[in-house]
Amino acid sequence: MELDTVIAVPFVDLRAQYQSLEAEVLEAIRDALESMELLLGPNVHAFEQEFADYCGVRHAIGVANGTDALYLALRACGVGPGDEVITVSHTFIATVEAIVNVGAIPVFVDVDPDTYTMDPSKIEAAITPRTRAILPVHLYGQPADMDAILPIAHRHGLAVIEDACQAHGATIRGRRVGSFGDAAAFSFYMGKNLGAYGDAGAVTTNSQALAECVRRLRDHGSVRKYEHVEMGVNSRLDEIQAAVLRVKLKYLDDWNARRRAHAEAYARVLSELPVVLPTVRPGVEHVWHLYVIQVDERDRVREVLARRGVSTGIHYPIPVHLQKAAKGVGRLAGDLAVTEQVARRILSLPMFPEMSGVQVAYVADCLRRVVAQEVSTVVQ
Ligand SMILES: *Cc1c(COP(=O)(O)O)cnc(C)c1O
Repeated sequence: MELDTVIAVPFVDLRAQYQSLEAEVLEAIRDALESMELLLGPNVHAFEQEFADYCGVRHAIGVANGTDALYLALRACGVGPGDEVITVSHTFIATVEAIVNVGAIPVFVDVDPDTYTMDPSKIEAAITPRTRAILPVHLYGQPADMDAILPIAHRHGLAVIEDACQAHGATIRGRRVGSFGDAAAFSFYMGKNLGAYGDAGAVTTNSQALAECVRRLRDHGSVRKYEHVEMGVNSRLDEIQAAVLRVKLKYLDDWNARRRAHAEAYARVLSELPVVLPTVRPGVEHVWHLYVIQVDERDRVREVLARRGVSTGIHYPIPVHLQKAAKGVGRLAGDLAVTEQVARRILSLPMFPEMSGVQVAYVADCLRRVVAQEVSTVVQ
């Protein structure tokens, strides 16, 4: 490959996916509009059943977004003011916002340095008489270590709520995320592995009681029109987004398989380089929402890649406990040395199903040249 050949590689390409689905999506949206049933109608009901079946759970409840899904799952599990919820700081802020917004206290534990998910060996020391729940995050598409987390929760009588917003379809020994905890939260934000055309989310659970509670809470705490048994919120999934999600759900496994193939291609080319590649825990099927490496001089590498046309991301540059918004919020259970260390070194490479083999190879080749200091002098 010529050194001066620049190929534009976006971080994600929503348009490419849209173009592959355009006719089907437009027809689904037109049908939804023609029915003029725009909220909690046939598409939401059908999608809830289809997504529950996909996850292997009894209930899925469509809500307005993933942040609300976390909030509603916490509330349905009885988490409220003064309760402590053990979670991670190495996540998107919404995980922690949901805890704070139910009035509870986030208690941060460190992540495992290989998988970036909650380090189960840190949980017991974080438990107090006020602990009510554990909220692990299936980060980047990799399930958290539920085999270790669930027995601890059971021993201490704690609820488990999965943040599955980045891991639609990921499995542990063949069982899908969203089915391990008391409840789980999914986001269908546009760029997620399953994304609507706008905001959308869902709560999954095997519990009839929790499902009924989330259904009530998402619609102003009502059981029947204008009959309100508790103060809820307005967080309904709308029919147009549900219609889009029903079209897209059929392709999710295929898209995840393509992401996996890209991850394998990256790993083949990058394994010789002085970068830390993602680790997949045994027995797990990773769905590669993000392909995250660690590299020295991350910001320089990122800058040079950008000049070569390669868009990258950092997920996330500032751990939640160090955010201004988190000042005076929550408590650290031990130090968060891994969380703070990886935040300085992580780099997310382009990853989306529609990437071409040429694009994957180009990104890998650019990275190889950058870490070998080959291109920094060549590119202006
Ligand atoms: C996207 C995301 C959320 C929030 O979902 P929204 O639909 O954007 O509200 C929560 N947690 C994690 C880990 C996420 O990636």
